[in-house]
Amino acid sequence: MPELPEVETTRRGIQPHIQGKTVTGVIIRQPRLRWPIPEELPQLLRRRKLRSIERRGKYLLLHFSNGCLLLHLGMSGSLRILPVSTPAGKHDHFDLAFGTQCLRLNDPRRFGAVLWSSGPVEQHPLLRHLGPEPLSDSFHGKHLFRLSRNRRVAVKQFIMDSKVVVGVGNIYANEALFLAGILPAASCGRISARRYEKLARAIRKILTAAIQHGGTTLQDFVQADGKPGYFSRELQVYGREGKPCSRCGNAIRQKNLGQRSSYYCSHCQRY
Ligand code: ZN
Repeated sequence: MPELPEVETTRRGIQPHIQGKTVTGVIIRQPRLRWPIPEELPQLLRRRKLRSIERRGKYLLLHFSNGCLLLHLGMSGSLRILPVSTPAGKHDHFDLAFGTQCLRLNDPRRFGAVLWSSGPVEQHPLLRHLGPEPLSDSFHGKHLFRLSRNRRVAVKQFIMDSKVVVGVGNIYANEALFLAGILPAASCGRISARRYEKLARAIRKILTAAIQHGGTTLQDFVQADGKPGYFSRELQVYGREGKPCSRCGNAIRQKNLGQRSSYYCSHCQRY
């Protein structure tokens, strides 16, 4: 599943090709994604200039003078820049053409989204309640400490809650908790401010490294064949059940927590 680093890498990958360009066509091949693609998009976007591309959480925001196009990659979506004449494949549901090039959305499982917002996009129902960006100045240990008081939910579920902080998916939550030495099942309300500082630093470090790693795959966004390969990650705990911990050598354990897999070292991480 594309997580925040993949979405940010996608943003950086497509931006130089289409920012500042004018939409020459909109093709909706399959409108039934997670929500229907608005059928008036071709009229709304035709001859409009793409001013900028931002990311908020896992949403890409394409800003035009008359509103904003929200894109979400769902479980299996990817975006590529292709010559507009490239034949569409089975799962190529949506094209935004800019002259000879187009931005094409491929999404086999169709959990992605293409939506339009004509008002202030930060007030859109999908964005309004989102917590801070993990790589911004408004995300720090104090924020986690403050929001977690009097709550009992497991810290892993707490940091994966997009109202608390956006873009910390399952893989990165496991990795960050390992780096910070905190067990995924620890009650979030009982973790000290000092340990939350460590956890906030770990989240930033892991996401930053993943984005930097993704930079090497940027050329994939303009290749006609194959999808942008979501970068392989160097993982310390995720998916490593039974394998030795890189720090102490004990076996990594796995447990389900809130229906998501948790991986941890019971020696290096504590409550
Ligand atoms: Zn260990």
